[in-house]
Amino acid sequence: MLITGKEILDIAQKNKFAIPAFNAGSGQLFTAVMETAEEMKAPFMMAIHPDELSFLKDSFIGQVLYECNHTKIPVCLHLDHGANIKQVMHAIKLGFTSVMIDASHKPFEENIRITKEIVNIAHLAGVSVEAELGTIGDTGNTVEGGVTEIIYTDPLKAQEFIAETGIDSLAIAIGTAHGIYPKNFVPKLRLDILKETTKLVDIPLVLHGGSSNSDTEIASAVELGIAKINISSDIKICFAQKLRELLNSGNSEIREPNVLFPACMLETKKVAKQKIELFKTNDKAGLYYL
Ligand SMILES: [Zn+2]
Repeated sequence: MLITGKEILDIAQKNKFAIPAFNAGSGQLFTAVMETAEEMKAPFMMAIHPDELSFLKDSFIGQVLYECNHTKIPVCLHLDHGANIKQVMHAIKLGFTSVMIDASHKPFEENIRITKEIVNIAHLAGVSVEAELGTIGDTGNTVEGGVTEIIYTDPLKAQEFIAETGIDSLAIAIGTAHGIYPKNFVPKLRLDILKETTKLVDIPLVLHGGSSNSDTEIASAVELGIAKINISSDIKICFAQKLRELLNSGNSEIREPNVLFPACMLETKKVAKQKIELFKTNDKAGLYYL
């Protein structure tokens, strides 16, 4: 069943688990995460970045909506990192039920102005809005991008930002980065900022770039009230790794997609399952039928 960002996140926030937002940038990745979610009775967000959408084409959304409307699992179709009103409007017209507007690199007042404009439009269409305050780091080589220097979210500013914009969820910067960190770099989450922020705000908080933080830190973040965690690199790396292995296996006859991809999808399913367990999302679909 297709539901909005607000619907999927409010229940997660109330029940202290986090919704995985999988950037499944291909039909195979989408099938893999959908099957895992169904097996584990786990609600999830299908997140699509504008660059992924350009690659997949608008018609792909027809496939996603079909699957969402034919499953008992609560699913939200979410635009990841919408950069402007044009991209957001396009997503709403296609049937997305949640959009992110990312004006976090702009000055605070301008971020408020842009986000507010998006909220006004999206809410008219019954679509939820996520915005971002502070900046998420970038390790290079990701579709999501980011900045090289992380600006941590100021909890007081977060409170003001939410009151001014009327958003449904907020991505906060507490030390995560998109992509996989370089070797020898140990990322550390500022859980103190998260703790402070949850005291001041009541909407669901979101973590981007959760791919290579330690499981212990991620589990603590969920415990402290993070209601959604974006997973992109982790479900793609294992898929690509298996594909590389198969193509380098010496069998030059291997070419049929239905022969080549299932083993890769299995690797993605293993990672998706591990994330769902870590975020405590398994067996939570029932909470949405009440
Ligand atoms: Zn992101």
